[in-house]
Amino acid sequence: MKNTGLYIHYPFCRKICPYCHFIKTLKREQTENLYFEALKGEIKLIASLMLRFDTLYFGGGTPSLINAKLIKIIEWIFKYLDTEFKEISIEVNPEDVSSEFIMILKKTGVTRVSLGIQQFNEKLLKILGREHTSSDILEAVEKLKKEKFVLNYDFIIGIPEENKSNLEESIKFIEKYPPDSVSIYILEGVKGKYWKKFKELEGDKKAEHFLMFEKFLESIGILRYEISNFSIKGKESLHNLKYWNYENFIGIGPSAASLLNNKRWENKSSIYSWAEAIKKGKLPPDKIFKLSPSERAKEAIMMGLRKVEGIDRKKFKIKFGEFPETFIPDFDEKESFFKIGNYLKVKRESLLIINSVLEGLF
Ligand code: SF4
Repeated sequence: MKNTGLYIHYPFCRKICPYCHFIKTLKREQTENLYFEALKGEIKLIASLMLRFDTLYFGGGTPSLINAKLIKIIEWIFKYLDTEFKEISIEVNPEDVSSEFIMILKKTGVTRVSLGIQQFNEKLLKILGREHTSSDILEAVEKLKKEKFVLNYDFIIGIPEENKSNLEESIKFIEKYPPDSVSIYILEGVKGKYWKKFKELEGDKKAEHFLMFEKFLESIGILRYEISNFSIKGKESLHNLKYWNYENFIGIGPSAASLLNNKRWENKSSIYSWAEAIKKGKLPPDKIFKLSPSERAKEAIMMGLRKVEGIDRKKFKIKFGEFPETFIPDFDEKESFFKIGNYLKVKRESLLIINSVLEGLF
């Protein structure tokens, strides 16, 4: 089957950040060796699905810690899988961007780097518990720009003690070093002892700060194309678009998720049980969900509405038999949130409350 996305989850980090909800663990040599061995095994097992992959994404954890082993992983992928990659992306932490690492990225054929900047202001970086400084960011960006990678900046807003003036430092930085695309995540649900020492952000400030970023990015031609993502036209993430367009993708590594036609599954999240299953020659899903045609249609709607352009109604009807709004119960009561034309989309002014719009949809 053509045009499948391939995601590789690398679950190790140098240090655990206090706000992180991803599946990750501290890097330890022995566990990492077990991981690489199992990863090779899973790539071989995936070959039996007879898919052709056209995007590759290394996510984590901190995939920039894979270092030279990246070259080995890409060799395994080319050896065992049918590939014709239009994009190879990797998430990178600024403190890992050495000249040697750039060479490794080039050898691996990486085309797109997603740089975890988070914020440019030193105080906010410290509150987030990040390892890098603003000068690490500058050094990394200069090196990556020189090599002409498609460059995405990852930002976090909604950090305690964040205000317009410390955010302005990130905006000035972007203005000086414009990327191809930007992702902005809003920090939610920070609880526990660690956060008590900082002043929490009041009420609507998160929305205000998001709008401040959005206004600035759009003024320099980096346009919003998904709830949290902005891009110059033509530089959108091809791999991530597969999720929002409800196309097939396969995830490799502990906890990685996959969608293949009417099946969805997630790998075992413990590195040990994941590796154990592969050793026995089995693909390691925890549970496989078989999706009915209407469940598929509903999932496709939930993902498609995340895009600013929304869902192409004609294409949707060809795939699922009816226009998308037909699947939404009591649509006439919810219609005020949407615009319907060739596309079904969430109105611009409703995008700020999109999570509650989506939660109340089905
Ligand atoms: S480096 Fe990234 S994945 Fe690792 S703990 Fe920090 S935020 Fe989480």
